[in-house]
Amino acid sequence: MNTILEAEQIIKEFKLDKERLFAKRMNFRAVDGVSLRVKKGETIGVVGESGSGKSTLSEIIGGLQQPTSGTVFYHGKDIRTLTKEKYQDFRRNVQFIFQSPTDSLHPFYSIRENLLEPLRIYKKDFHKKQALMEMEEMLMKVKLDPAILNKYASEISGGQAQRIAIARALLLKPQVIICDECVSALDMSVQMEILDLLLELQEEFGTSYVFISHDISAVNYVSDYVMVMRNGKVLEEGPAEQVLYHPQSDYTKLLITSSYITEEDEVYAM
Ligand code: ADP
Ligand code: MG
Repeated sequence: MNTILEAEQIIKEFKLDKERLFAKRMNFRAVDGVSLRVKKGETIGVVGESGSGKSTLSEIIGGLQQPTSGTVFYHGKDIRTLTKEKYQDFRRNVQFIFQSPTDSLHPFYSIRENLLEPLRIYKKDFHKKQALMEMEEMLMKVKLDPAILNKYASEISGGQAQRIAIARALLLKPQVIICDECVSALDMSVQMEILDLLLELQEEFGTSYVFISHDISAVNYVSDYVMVMRNGKVLEEGPAEQVLYHPQSDYTKLLITSSYITEEDEVYAM
């Protein structure tokens, strides 16, 4: 079947802070009834301002958080009903790339050790020699000099670190990579390089992406299908061209205009 991941009517409630105890409701919904489908080799973009529930939703579909209600299906099976082995298969096949790759790399280990770690965890037939060869090959694919393997996370640039994060995710040959604001901390020109790299690698490996960003122009650049989120709800969704060129809601129109302002800000900030 061509659907890898499916989320149905996801709701996630958090308890309100003490100061907000007198609000009418004790809980607030960070994600409020969202459904989505991740198809093989496709990119689904999720866009919305900070706090709209994007990260919470993505962590739920990747198994890092439990929803308050709703169901996540991996190849048609409710992930709560998977055997331990199948659940591990799900976790290996749904990888994440976050905004700050230097945070997710261990600073006291070399890049080599950082890349070996997930392979040790997930690969049943782990052979170090074989793994090192695969690593060097993958580094070439993400356009890094294998000499970088001897460096530490603190010694490399943001762009290099993001390429390492992509290589680390891809080494596990995942079916889905969830990119949560994965280019947002980078300069404009590096953002474009990473986005092009993601598209190139998708062509080669057929990986599906869930691409999350507050920047609708980055989302549009890589996505086949776009969902616009606000206050935990999906405001608008459809094929990327439709959402970008024929936005239905004023909020989407605002995201489109403000995305260009962000671009200018970046240029001035450099
Ligand atoms: P986004 O990724 O779109 O910026 P998030 O999913 O991170 O949004 O957050 C959505 C809302 O949920 C925010 O108001 C955030 O403060 C709140 N939130 C996220 N995680 C928690 C948590 N663990 N406890 C309480 N509130 C949370
Ligand atoms: Mg977020």
